[in-house]
Amino acid sequence: MARLYDSRKRILVTGGAGFIGSHLIDRLLDLGHEVICADNLFTGTKRNIDHLHNHPRFEFMRHDVTFPLYVEVDEIYNLACPASPVHYQHDPVQTTKTSVHGAINMLGLAKRLKCKIFQASTSEVYGDPVVHPQPETYWGNVNPVGIRSCYDEGKRCAETLFFDYHRQHGLQIKVARIFNTYGPRMHPADGRVVSNFIMQALQHDPITIYGDGSQTRSFCYVDDLIEAFIRLMATDDDVTGPLNMGNPGEFTIKELAEKVVQLTGSRSEIVYREIPADDPKQRCPDISKIKQMLDWDPKVDLQQGLGWTIDYFSNILSERRPS
Ligand code: NAD
Ligand code: UDP
Repeated sequence: MARLYDSRKRILVTGGAGFIGSHLIDRLLDLGHEVICADNLFTGTKRNIDHLHNHPRFEFMRHDVTFPLYVEVDEIYNLACPASPVHYQHDPVQTTKTSVHGAINMLGLAKRLKCKIFQASTSEVYGDPVVHPQPETYWGNVNPVGIRSCYDEGKRCAETLFFDYHRQHGLQIKVARIFNTYGPRMHPADGRVVSNFIMQALQHDPITIYGDGSQTRSFCYVDDLIEAFIRLMATDDDVTGPLNMGNPGEFTIKELAEKVVQLTGSRSEIVYREIPADDPKQRCPDISKIKQMLDWDPKVDLQQGLGWTIDYFSNILSERRPS
């Protein structure tokens, strides 16, 4: 990997001890930058950044983004927010506060520092979409008072704040709409579908499909996503997003369950459970805009990415077993 010492920056990553944030930090350090990770460890874990403990260009701060933060940096990536429905519904008021107050605090910091700021937004801004696949021009179909609203509306409001800071204060913003992403360092118990199915399959426990499994998702491997983050952040000031980031390969949840069983050689049976309220029936990114603007295309297919993720969870399970 090329080292860019001549253009070294100090970069703040909020939510950096989480799944995606920790991969982003690895990539930024690899590029020669200094990184400050601010995280309250609600869903993230020190295990994800343990390997950076003695890294001379890395610093960890336990900090909740709903409170102001005073640091001096050249760029900000704002990722702090629980992403799994189980976790963001655990304390929904805190979820909205994290998205909205967190955005206000980080935007205020970026305004004082006159620095670029990246927002990890989400395909959930499209809600239960009636336009398929979803282009950035689609305004979405979101229930404002349901159990997913704390996350969906929080992230929508954060996007509004980003664009108002851009229009009102000339801030350089980069808004990414991330579709379902998976890979090593997902929390094994975070309740998302990829981690649940793999953990269940590896332990030969029943695979829990919610509903009849005909709902669809499109799964992006984390390395592909990080490449898109870096390319978006490197764009000129006039590029603001929002830009969809995801893999357009679309699978039913039943197909995912079958694939995981096959790849793990599991004896698990598939069982069906009640579907949670407002669970989107279909989701697939239209990625024409990012392809054209950033020349970005996901490279890792589901079979390959699941293989690497299964290896990661197998290691976690073998560490837990008494020797
Ligand atoms: P994650 O839960 O692994 O990481 C989120 C991190 O934010 C954790 O380390 C957590 O401790 C931290 N955090 C939560 N609340 C905080 C607060 N108030 N102050 C400081 N830190 C806080 O989730 P992830 O999958 O890595 O998601 C990262 C970001 O990407 C989130 O903003 C999420 O909404 C967004 N996103 C993720 C996906 C996905 O499929 N993984 C999809 C769309 C959007
Ligand atoms: N899901 C499932 N079994 C599980 C976990 C999730 O069938 O053990 C389904 C869930 O109902 C949804 C899809 O898988 O339809 C994706 O869920 P996830 O929580 O990963 O993310 P979402 O895209 O819903 O935010």
